[in-house]
Amino acid sequence: MEQTKKCPSCGGTLIFNPGFDSLICQSCGHNEIIPELVSKTPVTEMDFLTAQNTASHDWGMEAKIVQCKQCGAETIQNKLQLSGLCPFCGSTTVDAADPAQDIMAPQGIIPFKITEKRAYYIFKDWIKDRFLAPEKLAANAQLGKFYGIYVPVFTFDVFTYSRLNAHYVENNRRQNMSALFQYQVDDFPVVASKQLASDKLLLSVLKDYRTNEAKPYTPDAMAGFPCEHYSIGLSEAWNSCGPELNWHLRDMVSKTDKTHVLLGINMNTNYYNLKYKYLIVPVWINSFFYDNRLFTIVINGQTGKIEGQWPKSFGTFAKKTALFFLGSFGFD
Ligand SMILES: [Zn+2]
Ligand SMILES: [Zn+2]
Repeated sequence: MEQTKKCPSCGGTLIFNPGFDSLICQSCGHNEIIPELVSKTPVTEMDFLTAQNTASHDWGMEAKIVQCKQCGAETIQNKLQLSGLCPFCGSTTVDAADPAQDIMAPQGIIPFKITEKRAYYIFKDWIKDRFLAPEKLAANAQLGKFYGIYVPVFTFDVFTYSRLNAHYVENNRRQNMSALFQYQVDDFPVVASKQLASDKLLLSVLKDYRTNEAKPYTPDAMAGFPCEHYSIGLSEAWNSCGPELNWHLRDMVSKTDKTHVLLGINMNTNYYNLKYKYLIVPVWINSFFYDNRLFTIVINGQTGKIEGQWPKSFGTFAKKTALFFLGSFGFD
């Protein structure tokens, strides 16, 4: 089992370097490319039906589950690099336990492209449009601090065969039609994080990945970055996506028939050759408490898309004040 990598120049700890597909030494700046992340090897598609027998449980490192006592989030971290705090709420009251053997390891990873500094500028730009009351937020020292984490996502490939009924209007007359429709679904994503998937705004950021750029999983890309433990299992993920997948198929049907505007589409679909990939994807996350509620802002670590919850009751101070306040954070 692989241990934490040490710097060959000075013996310091190597951590993942966002945007560079490499490991960097925190002490001397020594940099080394991670071969998996620059390879052209595609991430393997796994067969859904045999998943239980074939899924890998090897994280390639000594993994620990860390559970937060404040918000309940569970993350998987390298035992030798435990950060001791919860990236979802900033709490330091976390418990580490050895992982149960049945935690599936991912097949693929989308490495961080957005650096922490870039994440901060994206945030600063976003917050310009939101008024805030400095004295209320002053207690939230962590507001300028983003944590990098990986979030679990299952993507599904499936061949669909549908019988469909619909109608369209031609020369003021209703025409009924029925047809067969075949369509290969590719990389349909289901976010396996209960912490983030329950919020539509945050979810839109987590559906914004270019999954075709995923690389074969390597623990090196997790050096210094915890991974959220999936709280939605593979079968549950597939079972939950029916309605959304149906909308996706209707959309495809509408696009296929370019001569008519189809109305009242009704589809009866069979699914064949279901395959999946279990990916972990990068997120910069920032959470803060206000009025005893936890608010979360997330930035897609690949594309930079940002969304966040924001307290409506914040005051209506001028933008100038807000910007001045933000200026006092650690970045320049
Ligand atoms: Zn070094
Ligand atoms: Zn927490």
